[in-house]
Amino acid sequence: MIQETFPMIIGEEEAPNERTLLTLEDGPMMASPASVKYIVIHCSATRSTRDYTTEQLLRDHKTRGFRTVGYHFYIRRDGSVTQHRKLLEVGAHCRPWNRCSIGICYEGGLDADGHPADTRTPEQTEQFILLLMRMVKIFPGVRIRGHRDMPGSIPKACPCFDAEGVFGYLER
Ligand SMILES: [Zn+2]
Repeated sequence: MIQETFPMIIGEEEAPNERTLLTLEDGPMMASPASVKYIVIHCSATRSTRDYTTEQLLRDHKTRGFRTVGYHFYIRRDGSVTQHRKLLEVGAHCRPWNRCSIGICYEGGLDADGHPADTRTPEQTEQFILLLMRMVKIFPGVRIRGHRDMPGSIPKACPCFDAEGVFGYLER
């Protein structure tokens, strides 16, 4: 039995709920670079007034039975970026799309009161752009989408901003 300790539970009914996507590993590796069709953007669904460190993220995902963080990349509020999975390693962030997508998560997504909000800092946005530019170069034709935009996705809010509208211009 999996214990629901992930901090994303905090907040109200409309708050994004990442629990349901963190259920199973779909691993281990994608077939080829052509497998990558989407970059899926997530938020950690933690309050912008609180730290949610890489260590906490790792601990919480391991608690859920993952071998490591489910996302490929994590971008903290100060703009620091960490990679947690190899590019073609199947992630655990957006079922049933894990075998054809790369997951990028930014720290935040909830305001001080726990309501969904675009809490991206300028540093995060800058690193998002740099990272996404690298990804579209490596995976030409890849689409940039928010978690909530993926068909079959359950979270209503994640990543708490219009990822395609904001970053879609980077697609090529
Ligand atoms: Zn998400």
